[in-house]
Amino acid sequence: MRRTDEIVAYRADAALVGDEVVENVGLDIRSDGSIAAVRPNAGAGERIAGLVVPGLANVHSHAFQRAMAGLAERAGPEGDNFWRWREVMYRFLAVLTPDDVQAIAAQLYLECLQHGYTAVAEFHYLHNAPDGAAYTDPAELSRRVAAAAAQAGMGLTLLPVLYRQGGFGGQPPVPGQRRFLLTPDRYAALVQTMASDVAVGIAPHSLRAVTPDDLQSAIALADSLGSDTPIHIHIAEQTAEVADCLAWSGARPVQWLLDHAAVDRRWCLIHATHIDNTERARMAASGAIAGLCQTTEANLGDGIFPLRPYLAEGGRFGVGSDSNVSTSPIEELRWLEYVRRLESRARNVTETRQGASVATSLLTRAARGGAQALGRHAGEIAPGRRADLVVLNTEHPALAGRRGTALLDAWVFSGNSTPVRDVMVDGRWVLRDGLHAQSPAIGAAFARTMRRLADAL
Ligand SMILES: [Zn+2]
Repeated sequence: MRRTDEIVAYRADAALVGDEVVENVGLDIRSDGSIAAVRPNAGAGERIAGLVVPGLANVHSHAFQRAMAGLAERAGPEGDNFWRWREVMYRFLAVLTPDDVQAIAAQLYLECLQHGYTAVAEFHYLHNAPDGAAYTDPAELSRRVAAAAAQAGMGLTLLPVLYRQGGFGGQPPVPGQRRFLLTPDRYAALVQTMASDVAVGIAPHSLRAVTPDDLQSAIALADSLGSDTPIHIHIAEQTAEVADCLAWSGARPVQWLLDHAAVDRRWCLIHATHIDNTERARMAASGAIAGLCQTTEANLGDGIFPLRPYLAEGGRFGVGSDSNVSTSPIEELRWLEYVRRLESRARNVTETRQGASVATSLLTRAARGGAQALGRHAGEIAPGRRADLVVLNTEHPALAGRRGTALLDAWVFSGNSTPVRDVMVDGRWVLRDGLHAQSPAIGAAFARTMRRLADAL
């Protein structure tokens, strides 16, 4: 155990403190990974050149899908949609080994760190061998995800997923889903096993994949782990899912969930794309996080979450890389704003305070919301928070000459070359001067896996 009273003092050229960029900031980091103090006039200390911002929590990832990015981009029959993409995913799953799962996740997490994510909620539903049998160690694939996060130095909240049925009303699962299926007892055992190693949360996959009884047992399991255990669920991503839920229950998915579960700030509702005004207002009032995965939702043709009215009602959100077609939180934030510009034919639409920096507003809200969704006491540069920090190189061409929050506007709205130079997770540097100690090993293992998958598919 590290002593908690050992402190390293840093002096940052600038830091995002609250909603303001403050110059010459002292940051004291405890050896337990928390921020001990934030001082406006830095004294002595190791210099951090550049702008320090809170790292972003990735609220929703399916790591293995990183390896299938680009595999479902060929024109299909008319009406090509999510459900055909899912068929590609199921074929892919038939050949994925535990080594593959670990190699892909490590590469993904490395890339996520390089773009400014410092923690991930891994919505992990791959539990069984390709034939549906349990591995000798039923936690095999969960451990592989945890090992990948440890190798990359990524903060992890593991969300083992409960998946029980093929559709609303107890429809039997299809063969492509057999790697996901667990009984409630085996699920509880898996969660408890992993909880001794890593931070965990609970994830009933969706209302279409669990029964009402399964959902209640999952919530009870979360309660048994502690009153702040995160609970994540996919919900209302697709219009077909809304129609099926209405046919099954007479209620829309978010409406049904709010009527049958005490949804509060522990919850993260992934997508929640298709909600009516009443659902939106109730969701905003609940304190739950909307887990928005803009690039994946665009890739899959899901639809558009009503972000502007939701924010006006006090709603909270985080961003997620989901299918991992993008590994950059900045691309998520940029497109949260751009989609609404396209929709409304207006500019600067997700922030309504005149003169306020849109990028700063998106970034701070996503950082706080993401930390909440992961049950991680981070998301702000403030005493007592975890030191999950990202340092931007202010000499990078994208940021050159900018000061204050204009640096963040430039980061979010000036393209894809990343000015992220250093990353600290839990008080430890994992990226320094753009270099990661494990990068060669992670890259080599990933390349091996990708070559093997190319031959196997
Ligand atoms: Zn998902």
